[in-house]
Amino acid sequence: MLVAKELDVKNHESYHNHERVVYFEHEAAGLKAIISVHNTNLGPSLGGCRMYPYETEEQALTDVLRLSRGMTYKSALAGLPLGGGKSVIIGNPRTDKTPALFEAMGEAVEYMGGSYVTAEDVGTAEENMESISKNTKFVAGLPLSVLQQRVPNPVGGNPSPYTAFGVFCGLKAAVKYRLKKDTVAGLKVGVQGLGSVGYDLCRFLDEEGATLFVSDINKDVLEQAKAELKNVHVVGLDDIYDMPVDVYAPCALGATVNDQTIERLKCSVIAGAANNQLHLRKHDQILHDKGILYAPDYVINSGGVMCVGYEFFQLTKNPFSYELNETNLKNHVAEIENVTMKIFDYAHKHGLPSGEAADRLAEEIFLSPDLIKTAANS
Ligand code: NAD
Repeated sequence: MLVAKELDVKNHESYHNHERVVYFEHEAAGLKAIISVHNTNLGPSLGGCRMYPYETEEQALTDVLRLSRGMTYKSALAGLPLGGGKSVIIGNPRTDKTPALFEAMGEAVEYMGGSYVTAEDVGTAEENMESISKNTKFVAGLPLSVLQQRVPNPVGGNPSPYTAFGVFCGLKAAVKYRLKKDTVAGLKVGVQGLGSVGYDLCRFLDEEGATLFVSDINKDVLEQAKAELKNVHVVGLDDIYDMPVDVYAPCALGATVNDQTIERLKCSVIAGAANNQLHLRKHDQILHDKGILYAPDYVINSGGVMCVGYEFFQLTKNPFSYELNETNLKNHVAEIENVTMKIFDYAHKHGLPSGEAADRLAEEIFLSPDLIKTAANS
């Protein structure tokens, strides 16, 4: 049986006016999970379900509070009628996954009454979302075969190509703003991590004529890049920070912009896919003072959440005045270029670093008092 316990997190150090946080346990299914709804002013809160072997429930709580808050800001600037939420399952994704566990998670999502919509995240996959969907309709990131049974022309699926396209659009905005160039042709770009997003980003950059300096721990993907791309140089894992590039695009790990690397970076723009690229908040100001233009990570990597959001709207209710199809999704993702520009202009006008400017603009959107709940929320 699923047991739910409302958590009072008002005194938690990561509390930030979260609306509702619930701890769930289902003994028979082996589920221990927390769902955090940060804000639903714009619509139901959407955010992935992370499965991770947290050592303590306190660690899981801190993570889910922080991540759900981030989703509110991301969706607001992504122009989605969605709020911010997230869930965490305490467990090892390699050894603890069972269909029953995710079916119980589906009950937990359903318990939130539609205020939280889940999707894939670190440690969870499409097939887990399918198990969750047995007990709730508030789930996206389903396998294409399942979507095809529910809607005639499903839009969505793997979000990474949309994330990569959005990062490319955001990167171009930063190049236009700082280097006054409409193209990346002739520019040097350092890409760290050629995974699902980084590799596709390289394809876009290569096609437009950039020179690439790339690093990855996976040698096969580096060989593939050398064989497929026109102008690519493989560099050592640690050497990527010293490359004399115009743009540094972190697409692997978080916190690679830190006290040590900032001293070494020679770029004038940072624009990549990785989440939480800045190790600490102060690094936003440090980059600003050094004249390095930072394209805020959660803004330019929001193509993925747009993709997941469109899938959810297609399965429930379309909040837009246009059709939910691939072309319109792609146009929506392309808007990241304009939004990123707007952030740079706002930052300049108010003398702020760009990360801070993005947060303020997001708050202007989701905290606006005259906001009405959108159709997607009903
Ligand atoms: P991925 O796991 O497919 O790719 C990561 C790549 O980084 C892998 O090729 C890996 O070998 C490489 N890598 C790991 N450690 C490295 C190191 N020290 N130096 C260089 N390369 C290293 O992940 P992804 O889906 O491409 O996501 C990349 C980043 O973007 C992550 O931070 C992720 O959270 C973020 N992100 C992804 C999406 C998405 O739609 N996939 C959306 C938003 C944000």
